[in-house]
Amino acid sequence: MSFDEFQFHPQIIAGIKACGYTSPTPIQREAMPPILAGRDMLGLAQTGTGKTAAFVLPLLQRLQDGPRKKVRALIVAPTRELAEQIHENIGKMAGQTRLRSVVVYGGVGKPGQIKKIREGAEIIVACPGRLLDHLNDKAINLREVEILVLDEADHMFDKGFLPDIKRIIKHLPTQRQNLVFSATMPAEIRHLAEDILNNPATVQI
Ligand code: AMP
Repeated sequence: MSFDEFQFHPQIIAGIKACGYTSPTPIQREAMPPILAGRDMLGLAQTGTGKTAAFVLPLLQRLQDGPRKKVRALIVAPTRELAEQIHENIGKMAGQTRLRSVVVYGGVGKPGQIKKIREGAEIIVACPGRLLDHLNDKAINLREVEILVLDEADHMFDKGFLPDIKRIIKHLPTQRQNLVFSATMPAEIRHLAEDILNNPATVQI
């Protein structure tokens, strides 16, 4: 199987080539069609399976048409390292699309992050605490977000971020696509998924 059958825009195919990917991994095969169709998803997958591209490529495809320079996708990750890694992956895959991602986490200055967002990013990759700071400062507007991704949801729970996630979600429009990824499915994550997801496709690798 190749990436051809997903009918990605040429700019995204260029991104796939730039990453050196020739065929989709199992999670990509399963997850990409429902995400491309706009469905919510619960993905049970470990890091190392190709799960980042499984949500980033369809997300880019969905954002490629439509307005620019406003935040249309929010990806929340539990650690700076993961947020950076997702942001870097987007940079490679989105190289030809002119879609831009900004990464937001604590421990570094806020003004630089705000400046980059104001310059026109369509995607924010964020850790919960700093994102809430910016929201409380009214420095970031998430009212036009179309797609929410929660990555490593089980680690968000381990780190005590679930109340923050609930606060962040209050800043989003109610009509949106939601993707939740987790390596394990403790009761707390199942409840979170039930709260957030509407008729989700479930993908397990
Ligand atoms: P992830 O699970 O997203 O952390 O990805 C694990 C590794 O697999 C990363 O180094 C990716 O660049 C790589 N990868 C993702 N998708 C593919 C693919 N379709 N073909 C080859 N490598 C891939």
